[in-house]
Amino acid sequence: MHHFSYRGGVLHAEDVAVPRIAAEVGTPFYCYSTATLTRHLSVFQKALTGLDATVCFAVKANSNIAVLRTLIGLGAGCDVVSCGELQLALKAGAAPAKIVFSGVGKTEAEIRLALASGVGQINVESEAELDTLSRVAAEMGKTARIALRVNPEVDAGTHDKISTGRKEDKFGIEWSAVPRLYRKAARLPGIDPTSVAVHIGSQITELAPFEAAFKKVRELVLQLRAEGLDIRHLDLGGGLGVPYDHSSNKTPPSPEEYGAMVKRTFAGLDCKFTFEPGRVIVGNAGIMVSEIVSIKESAERRFVIVDAAMNDLVRPAMYGSRHDIIPVQEASSGSLPVDVVGPVCETTDCFAKAYPLPSSLKAGDLVAFLTAGAYGAVMASSYNARALIPEVMVSGDQFAVVRRRPSFEEMVALEQLPPWVE
Ligand SMILES: *Cc1c(COP(=O)(O)O)cnc(C)c1O
Repeated sequence: MHHFSYRGGVLHAEDVAVPRIAAEVGTPFYCYSTATLTRHLSVFQKALTGLDATVCFAVKANSNIAVLRTLIGLGAGCDVVSCGELQLALKAGAAPAKIVFSGVGKTEAEIRLALASGVGQINVESEAELDTLSRVAAEMGKTARIALRVNPEVDAGTHDKISTGRKEDKFGIEWSAVPRLYRKAARLPGIDPTSVAVHIGSQITELAPFEAAFKKVRELVLQLRAEGLDIRHLDLGGGLGVPYDHSSNKTPPSPEEYGAMVKRTFAGLDCKFTFEPGRVIVGNAGIMVSEIVSIKESAERRFVIVDAAMNDLVRPAMYGSRHDIIPVQEASSGSLPVDVVGPVCETTDCFAKAYPLPSSLKAGDLVAFLTAGAYGAVMASSYNARALIPEVMVSGDQFAVVRRRPSFEEMVALEQLPPWVE
């Protein structure tokens, strides 16, 4: 459920007509709905009622400070994976105690910043990282509350490129090594190993892989406790999928179903919980709006060339993923299968193939790419010297630019010629 819908034949973001934003901001742009963000976070939080749980939004899904601040204002913490994300979370007002620092290759500088900032938890991904963390924490006179991020050897059944919990994936600590590393962590200075973390992938559309992983974690907790380790906290990661493609009949489990499964699986374990949802909170709280540059017909195909490209929204090019595309002005004409493509000089700069769009669409018309709030703006680049596109936030009948388009001077400000080039 989201707050982008037609009113009088025109797509609105909450109470704001999308063409009004386009006229003021220029295309392409991202547009986020405050009401949708708020709704998704509260649905997720409600689904966990009865658990002692903190929802730490995965900043990597959408790191716009206005988005972060909105979620933090509603009680969310943050899951961060780099120095930059940690600084963004702090700047957005996150309580350090509600920040989890994850990430597969933390540098010593990142570990220092995490400890100096007093983050609530650091998720350790390897024995080498555990050793470094212990040394740095001891040097700084700090104690790091940690989880070992375990690899439960479960296939999340999602896209190969966003699966993280299989034996061959680079993430987490090998299952067979986990008990030994907890014993080691308990002896190391500067380390307080009270938590277990697991995250098996993203855009997961079934409960079964979560449940399989969580059952293994439950067994692990019982085993570690039997050895005298005081495990009181579980970090169950993110990964819950969202529906992207209305032509597909795959509906991901609801937060309610997910929450009920968590409660069932961990009944009686007496733990605190952290969750790190990203996509399910922001995915369909955002759209990307683009203008049609031209329509090109060949004997074989009809191409709709839009002014957004793979550098603005890379998911289709990177993962072959689909986004629903709709006209901003509702059309009554029948639809024709078209290829929706961007102007970048790459064949992979294609948003959809043989996609049904109204036959009346013409240059100058606007289209919206739905469910673009997660892994959209954060993954954008300026390939082809295209400026990063603005981000706009809507609340009721108001809208504001929350990240503006950079000028050409700003885009080249960091470049300089070496002394030997005239
Ligand atoms: C990416 C990531 C998340 C968020 O995943 P979503 O699929 O967006 O919910 C959470 N935790 C970790 C460790 C991650 O790497």
